[in-house]
Parts: sequence; C-alpha cells; structure tokens
Amino acid sequence: MLRPACRLKNGYTVTMDVIDSFRRPLRDLRISVTDRCNFRCTYCMPREVFGPEYQFLQRDDLLTYEEITRLSRIFIAHGVEKLRITGGEPLVRRDLDQLMAKLAPIAGLKDLTLTTNGSLLKQQAAKLAEAGLKRITVSLDSLDDDVFKAMNDASVNVQTVLDGIDAAAAAGLSPIKVNAVVKRGVNDHTIVELASYFRNTGHIVRFIEFMDVGNTNGWRLDSVVTAREMIERIDRVYPIEPATANYEGEVAKRWRYRDGAGEIGFITSISEPFCGSCTRARLSPEGQLFTCLFGNQGHDFRSLLRGGKSDEEIGAFLRSVWRIRDDRYSEIRSSDTIGLRKVEMSRIGG
Ligand code: SAM
Repeated sequence: MLRPACRLKNGYTVTMDVIDSFRRPLRDLRISVTDRCNFRCTYCMPREVFGPEYQFLQRDDLLTYEEITRLSRIFIAHGVEKLRITGGEPLVRRDLDQLMAKLAPIAGLKDLTLTTNGSLLKQQAAKLAEAGLKRITVSLDSLDDDVFKAMNDASVNVQTVLDGIDAAAAAGLSPIKVNAVVKRGVNDHTIVELASYFRNTGHIVRFIEFMDVGNTNGWRLDSVVTAREMIERIDRVYPIEPATANYEGEVAKRWRYRDGAGEIGFITSISEPFCGSCTRARLSPEGQLFTCLFGNQGHDFRSLLRGGKSDEEIGAFLRSVWRIRDDRYSEIRSSDTIGLRKVEMSRIGG
C-alpha cells in the first residue's frame, strides 16, 4: 500500500502522496473513543449545554475496537507513527485495555499514548500498561481543591487524580505529562504551586493557553494567559530556560528548571500558533476524520468501513482528504473567525 518515500527539505521522510497542500505529512492520529465524559469542565463541556437532555452518541454509532484497529493500520501505512487515545473521557469506555492490546502490536507504530482526566486511572493504569499502553497524559488544572472542583464541575477532588498519576507511574506509564488549561481569574493564581509540586518527580507539567475550541465554552481573549506571562511568573520563583524540541512539530514548547529539577512545557495555540508543523489528524468516536482541531466538517470513514470498502479504497480516500488539507485556523484566527462553527473538543479530544 505504501508509495515510494522521499526526504523533504524540512527533514521529514514521507510517502509521496500523503503530504498536504502546505507540505505537512500525516504523522499523528488522535482517536476519540467516546463523546461522553464524567467531568463537566466549564471551558470544555459546560453543564448548561451538556446537561441531562444532551443527546450523546449511541453505542451503535461508535466505531468498534475492531474498526478503530483496522483504520489505525491503514493510517500507519500512510505515515502515522503515533496514536493518542482520547475522548470525551476515554476511561469511561468499557474495556479500553482491549483496544490497547489490539493497537500496541501494529507494525510501524512508534508511540501509543492516552489523554485522561485521571479520575478513573487508579483502577485502570496497571491493566492498560499490561495491554501495551506506553505512556499517558493526565489533565489536572489546579492543586487547589476548590479551584479544581469549580473547573471540573463534577465534585472530583485533586487527590483522586494524584492517586491516578501515582498508579500510572507505578505501572511504568512514563514520562507522565500533566496538562493544565489556564484561564485568567480562574486558576492562573495556582500555576506556580502546580509547577512546584511536580518538580523533581520526572512528570512534565504543560500549561495550555485557553483555546477557542468549539462553540460552547464562552471563550474570550481576555481570559487567555499567554505562555510568556506564565513563564515570567514561574521564572520569578523557579528560574527556567528554554530547552530544544524533542522532534519537529512537537506541540509543547519545552522549558527546563535551571537547577535541574526537570522540565515543563507550554502549549501556545493562541499566542504562538504552530499550524505550520501540524501533522495531526483527529478521528471522532463515530468515525469522522477532522484535519484540524478547529474544523467544522469531518470526513466520513465509518460509512466506508461499514460499506464493505477494501483497505486500498479506504487508503485512497485518506490520501484524497490529506492531499487537499489546507487548515491553519490558529494562524489566521481573527475576530471574523472566532464565531465560525467548530467541532466540540469534547467530541474529538485534545
Ligand atoms: N477527558 C480527557 C482529559 O481530560 O484529558 C481527554 C479529552 S480533553 C478534551 C483533552 C484536553 O483538552 C484536556 O487536557 C483539556 O483540559 C483540554 N481542553 C479542553 N478544552 C480546552 C480549551 N478550551 N482550551 C484548552 N484546552 C482545552
């Protein structure tokens, strides 16, 4: 199925036909396994919108683990090296370890990881690791219980997530990344405490600028704390310096403590967009492929899977989608684009 490879000036080696219209290869696939979540984070799934009346997908709508595995194989044959399982909250989907066991052995897969809110991790970390999960990212916006509960709006306390992180570390799912979305006036006063707690643990805290994903989170520019400001605040207490990226297209900007206490990262989607190096595609739970986190139109892979198409035919569809990809939403963000319809992040994950 693979086409001849070529090496680009920017260092990527790619198969000839999976470069998009800005010469970005396809390298990462984020797979959302459910649109449901046990949190109601105010910046992601506000309870007013995602309340008891909200119509979540039905079981038959979701891609099965077999369908996800088949698609993953096809994507990996087209250059994908990394799979990230996400949601909604992926750990609310039953027997997720069975999916890991199917994905982990796929030839050509270099990295298999998962993003979770951590609330169910203590119970699941060991079996996920046994099934082949390599590492994990846990979302934790604050160590202050009141702040954290106000943000997750589900009464989950900080200790539950910290227990999940400990269980993940004990299961060898490292390095563990801890993601914190920072919103001005909500949790920005707690970022130094969060950084401090994870110094010298080997876990990497990554602070995320609050993004205008979806249409329901009430995003405003004045709620964004830029990475520059966060860096200044942390540097005043714990001096930090930039570190070089691990690889081309890495999402977080790496920084390290000057005293050797470890590293932290910043995800600068608002202040310093990184569309130019975006090699990510996102698969929704019902098999729609989105080529941008801020997209509004998915490409329907489920109907191909369920319509009896061959791997070759599905691969051809993937190539046709990727070749014309020209998304660069964050780079052209303006007052005109903010109101455009976008897919909800709770559907396609981070
Ligand atoms: N439930 C899982 C979790 O909590 O990690 C996976 C899905 S969640 C949508 C993935 C990540 O997106 C989380 O780290 C979450 O904090 C982040 N996120 C959600 N809405 C966001 C926003 N408006 N701006 C920045 N990050 C956001």
